[in-house]
Amino acid sequence: MATSPTDRPPRVGVFGGTFDPLHAAHLRLARAFRDELALDQVRLIPAGQPYHRDRAPHASAAQRLAMLDAALATEAPGLVSDDREVRRARPAYTVDTLQELRDELGDQAELWFLIGGDSLQQLHTWQRWPQLLQLANLAVAIRPGFVAADLDPAVAALWQARQVSDFSNRTPSGTIRALDLPPITLSATAIRQQLAAGQDCSALLPAAVLAYIRQHRLYR
Ligand code: ATP
Repeated sequence: MATSPTDRPPRVGVFGGTFDPLHAAHLRLARAFRDELALDQVRLIPAGQPYHRDRAPHASAAQRLAMLDAALATEAPGLVSDDREVRRARPAYTVDTLQELRDELGDQAELWFLIGGDSLQQLHTWQRWPQLLQLANLAVAIRPGFVAADLDPAVAALWQARQVSDFSNRTPSGTIRALDLPPITLSATAIRQQLAAGQDCSALLPAAVLAYIRQHRLYR
């Protein structure tokens, strides 16, 4: 793993998603989290069988992972793919993934669970979600217009109680940071629709992802 030049505990970000397919906003978000939080590593973890989605992903887990790997092959240091949820036969819950990483990295490691603001709105529907903050810190990329009052009341209470703005105060888990990152109007859903309509998506996808999609005739 990429480590810091000092002896401090590793700082590891966990960025999960369906990545169906991985697109430019995912990469921009992962890089921004890495830089804003001074993380040694951001692990991009494709969901194997996303349990909280109404519909199955369009590309298979193996294909989504292959696209991620192809994109990260030419990425700057610190962004790596992690296939643990794809390898898991049963539905993979984020809380289990974070527990596994905590066991692997030890008590002192700084773990960061990284999400977009739209995922925060759904947090209360995730399996054993209150445990997430026992295992990791939470960083949320919020957009202009974000209103905490729109959150589920239990998530809103945590949002109030655990938010820390002093970045020199770092802990292995338990804090929430809101990162005001530039909004990107882009979603995998919209990209799949554009691909199906035969539109040019070269500005929205990493070149290696687009090449894979063409080669495997995905999203038609
Ligand atoms: P879909 O359209 O299929 O729902 P998606 O583009 O939202 O896909 P996901 O794989 O579901 O991508 O998202 C992974 C993570 O990336 C989530 O935390 C989500 O909030 C975040 N994310 C995706 N697109 C954006 C975006 N344009 N701006 C900010 N966050 C984003």
